[in-house]
Amino acid sequence: MNFFSSYQAVLDRLDTIDPLSYGKTRNFISGDVTYLSPYISRGVISAKQVLEMLMDKGYKISEMEKFIQQLAWREYFQRVWQHIGDDLFDDIRLRYTGIKHDDIPAALLNAATGIKAVDGAIATLYETGYMHNHTRMYTASIACNIGKAHWQMPSQWMYYHLLDGDLASNTCSWQWVAGTFSSKQYFCNQENINKYSGSVQNGTFLDKTYEELPLMDIPAALRPTTTLALKTTLPEKILPDTDPSLPLLLYTSYNLDPQWRKEIKANRVLLLEPSHFRQFPVSEKVIDFILHQARQIEGLQVFTGEVNEIPGLQQFPAIYSKEHPAFIHFPGIKEERDWIFPDIKGSFNSFFSFWKKCERDLRKREKLIPVSQRA
Ligand SMILES: Cc1cc2nc3c(=O)[nH]c(=O)nc-3n(C[C@H](O)[C@H](O)[C@H](O)COP(=O)(O)OP(=O)(O)OC[C@H]3O[C@@H](n4cnc5c(N)ncnc54)[C@H](O)[C@@H]3O)c2cc1C
Repeated sequence: MNFFSSYQAVLDRLDTIDPLSYGKTRNFISGDVTYLSPYISRGVISAKQVLEMLMDKGYKISEMEKFIQQLAWREYFQRVWQHIGDDLFDDIRLRYTGIKHDDIPAALLNAATGIKAVDGAIATLYETGYMHNHTRMYTASIACNIGKAHWQMPSQWMYYHLLDGDLASNTCSWQWVAGTFSSKQYFCNQENINKYSGSVQNGTFLDKTYEELPLMDIPAALRPTTTLALKTTLPEKILPDTDPSLPLLLYTSYNLDPQWRKEIKANRVLLLEPSHFRQFPVSEKVIDFILHQARQIEGLQVFTGEVNEIPGLQQFPAIYSKEHPAFIHFPGIKEERDWIFPDIKGSFNSFFSFWKKCERDLRKREKLIPVSQRA
């Protein structure tokens, strides 16, 4: 899977989504998933745009519910971040059961856990920057619940390599698996992995019942651990050449939308703040992907620096960015992101209490569609 495609190719891919087949097969590693997350996560396209395109193609809301639910997970996690702020990056709730260390099992880094489906998925992650949702869950479960690592370092490792790295989805999902953002830890056994990955393996440390898994000692394969020191290599710092009579549009690694305010004349700057990438490092491949998307935005200049280092910042008639919890320190006007459910925000006990409200909202929308066009 090559994600370094043109904007038009992304739209073409969107056009091939089959939400019905998706609902039936998405849990299988070879299932009909969309591979859209790097573009949605980086703001190249929005989940709302995806949904609207499918509705324009004639898919009914009721037949796409499984797919819309998946899109809603990202919105939910982003709402959690907006609501609790950077407390997101610590245990959200009390840990369900004991951690033995704050490092990462070396076997994960080396794609050598002995669980073939997981090792293969880690190798693919290194090669492509993508991992299927189910193998992300398996990997996190092996790291935290079998290897008994605290979730923070392994989640930073995965985030580092993911083209779709989304701090809210990643952090909340790791905490969900580890039991600090859910009512219990998530365990997977070899039988489940074989079923969804198509592998045929037995005799591994996961070849156990669900009663046995939580009681196990750390298997020998996961005992050696490593401390990570992840670093980001950013492009050279070149000051942007700006016109102080025009507004300034601030793009970020989470807003790479080629359609954003396309119609206006403006200074367009992709800001890569070293402080952000020190806190949340990403791999060279991820930076390459961000720069690749940036090149598709006409007139966009890349600036490696902090926002207040942009020359003449006070002089622009207006400064615009898109609202995002990682960039609340930006000056100027923060525009709303394109949410599917713009009015559903605040605090929710769980995804499913959030989803209930989304469902109600979808029902209302469906009623607005003429009867002849409903499912
Ligand atoms: C441990 C762990 C870490 C994760 N880290 C990230 C991350 O850093 N960035 C990220 O975008 N997703 C993350 N996810 C969620 C999910 O794995 C990916 O969004 C999904 O695999 C992306 O592939 P796809 O576009 O082919 O998904 P599809 O299955 O085709 O789904 C379509 C879209 O729905 C959304 N979506 C689907 N499943 C989820 C989910 N569980 N959570 C949030 N959104 C979802 C995404 O926008 C995705 O592009 C993580 C999940 C786990 C378990």
